Amino acid sequence: MKIGCPKEIKPQEFRVGMTPIAAHEAVAHGHQVFIETGAGAGAGFDDATYVAAGAIILPTAAEVFATADMIVKVKEPQAAERKILREGQLLFTYLHLAPDPEQTHDLLASGATCIAYETVTDRNGGLPLLAPMSEVAGKLAPQVGAWTLQKANGGRGVLLGGVPGVGPAKVVVIGGGVVGTHAARVAAGMGADVTVLDMSLPRLRYLDDAFRNEFKTGYASKGNTAELIAQADMVVGAVLIPGAAAPKLISRAQLSTMKPGAALVDVAIDQGGCFETSRATTHADPIYEVDGIMHYCVANMPGAVARTSTIALGNATMPFMLALANKGWKQACADDPHLLNGLNVHAGQLTYAAVGAALGIDV
Ligand code: NAD
Repeated sequence: MKIGCPKEIKPQEFRVGMTPIAAHEAVAHGHQVFIETGAGAGAGFDDATYVAAGAIILPTAAEVFATADMIVKVKEPQAAERKILREGQLLFTYLHLAPDPEQTHDLLASGATCIAYETVTDRNGGLPLLAPMSEVAGKLAPQVGAWTLQKANGGRGVLLGGVPGVGPAKVVVIGGGVVGTHAARVAAGMGADVTVLDMSLPRLRYLDDAFRNEFKTGYASKGNTAELIAQADMVVGAVLIPGAAAPKLISRAQLSTMKPGAALVDVAIDQGGCFETSRATTHADPIYEVDGIMHYCVANMPGAVARTSTIALGNATMPFMLALANKGWKQACADDPHLLNGLNVHAGQLTYAAVGAALGIDV
């Protein structure tokens, strides 16, 4: 198969859909790989590294799209990319169609077959192509929160780990899934006093079993949450209700109960945010203050560490990319119901029920 990987064109997106390692693997399986010149630059992979891996460099995205049977990307195709997608072409990338009717209509009109990373599943009920980015965002959360807490950034001027004679900062993580667990482990590793709140008792049992020596757990009732956030130096929002907007777990009125200069890091901002006062920010201007509380709400946190994120995403997508290339999408999806769950659009037809329900389109 001819596999194409264009340079990402969404603003501030530095990741790339195929690493040189993925390109090498595809070539070793007998496929041809076409990379747009400079596609890997933001993640630290130059054209020469792709050539050494056996890939062919093309000068424009238009040529990559015109040449390839399958396009492998990171972000949803932008309007200019959707125009050059063609009937019968396979697109493998994040799509997030439910809140995006314009993109959905363009993909339906293109006649392409579109498999979305975010709806591919695994046998444990997880989302294997979302998890690596949640791991990255979770590990970043205490790092950016620690920076937000610094006095010069408007924070409380508290060091997460404290020093001998001065106690550690108190960190509350709301949501103990992939983001929350990684955030809690890093915050605890930095020496903070960490509590993870979740509503799922099985999840709390697992966290308590696995991490009892690193952090505490608590049930995410309104009362517990109110009590803990009033003592917190940093709160990380890491909840997810699949397919739904994030619930608002801290109201504006509650900010006045918190310590002045405390930091709220709302990782769930890509689902609308779990604090009432959250609004999406960018890496260029990541923090703002409301009622004396500092907010960090960057919607694409993994972009800050594009190289790590690219490699982590590539590790997760590679087996699926190879299955699609080796067998063709029909056979690959017939063999693997979890990959089939990724199919969102085929030949002008929406094929994913939740997206259809969200957009009022027949599936
Ligand atoms: P996950 O499904 O692994 O974990 C979510 C957890 O939230 C679950 O344990 C669930 O029980 C818990 N939960 C749900 N409702 C709750 C509530 N009301 N109170 C307490 N806990 C509750 O999800 P994840 O992969 O950890 O993702 C968490 C969030 O981070 C998602 O919104 C995801 O989209 C977002 N995310 C953002 C970025 C970014 O760059 N900002 C990157 C990756 C993920």
